Amino acid sequence: MDRIYLDNNSTTPMLPEVVEAMRPFFATTFGNPASAHRSGAAARTALEDARFTVAQCLEAYAEEVVFTSGATEANNLALFGLPDQEPGEVVTSPIEHPSVAEPIRQLEAWGHHLQVLGVDGQGRVAADELHQLIADNTRLISIQLANHETGTVQDIKTLAAQAPGVFFHTDATQAVGKMAVSFRELGVSTLACSGHKLYGPKGVGVILVKRGVRLRPRLLGGHQQQGLRPGTEPVALAVGLAAALRLAVDQQKQRHDQVVQLRQRFLDELRPAEPWVINGAPDGMPHTVNVSFPGCAADVLLIRLDLAGIDCSTGSACSSGSLLPSPVLQALGCPPDILKSAMRFSLSHLVTEAQVTEAARRIVREVRALRGNHPASSLV
Ligand code: PMP
Repeated sequence: MDRIYLDNNSTTPMLPEVVEAMRPFFATTFGNPASAHRSGAAARTALEDARFTVAQCLEAYAEEVVFTSGATEANNLALFGLPDQEPGEVVTSPIEHPSVAEPIRQLEAWGHHLQVLGVDGQGRVAADELHQLIADNTRLISIQLANHETGTVQDIKTLAAQAPGVFFHTDATQAVGKMAVSFRELGVSTLACSGHKLYGPKGVGVILVKRGVRLRPRLLGGHQQQGLRPGTEPVALAVGLAAALRLAVDQQKQRHDQVVQLRQRFLDELRPAEPWVINGAPDGMPHTVNVSFPGCAADVLLIRLDLAGIDCSTGSACSSGSLLPSPVLQALGCPPDILKSAMRFSLSHLVTEAQVTEAARRIVREVRALRGNHPASSLV
């Protein structure tokens, strides 16, 4: 059997419908959306249609949708965009993606005081703590919607409701396209997501900015997108993101049910590799299977699985290659053996039952070989 791709939290393939939707905007309808002539108008129409689709899918207004180069830029724009630069309190969780955690560390270096909420053993933010941390000088709260390593989902609506009037950002990159997300319902100030996590193109993301919230741009030099994100908009990428999101929202239940079934099959087939421990909350995103195999070094297992034809990860892709334990799993209080042996398999509705079954078979074989129960197997 061919390679089996179980790293969908890292990135997803583009769906053929998405590629087709984008195609005209590379060579035929190539105008600059800011141009006054008809070629420009055609591109502008496509761009604004894409903005409208994103708004509809996420229950936002079209004017709240700003296209960026991805979620990293969207997170940076939200966190560095605070118009009020007087140092104050900044509240976050210890399990944020580096594209949130590092800008926040920079805010701290600039004089803001950092407050980090606790998480429980399954990665849920201590919601009741937030209320106590809010002060008159709280400038910003940033808490992700779904975790990239464990899939744990936070109750952002309840959290945001505890901090009325405070700027609240949520990184929804691992949630959008996989669960229903309503910007209006969440009640946050800004929300970030990315095209390539939902079967759309890489290099495009969105920041939703609530009506009435003012952000300072990071880039200067153009009037596009209300001056908040100047530069000629990538029409094809925006069209691709919108097409992918439309499909994801329309097929959400069906895809979700498929992934729930795949997860169950995968875990059933992994049984012979016991003992193993699942990290994260059982009611999180079913796509993410973060599992530790005590007695196995994750970095060694990763290489063996790569050789055995399985694409997976030991943590978020951004931190792979580093031998440091995952800060997310550390925050969950995982003991050293669990930290050192944690693997992330991320599923997709595009994966088949036969593939997860075969993947589990190879994982069982490699885990057993690493534990020394069986002789090391030859390559697949
Ligand atoms: N936030 C989260 C939770 C992510 O998983 C990722 C992608 N690893 C990002 C932000 C960054 O997204 P992008 O690759 O679009 O910059």
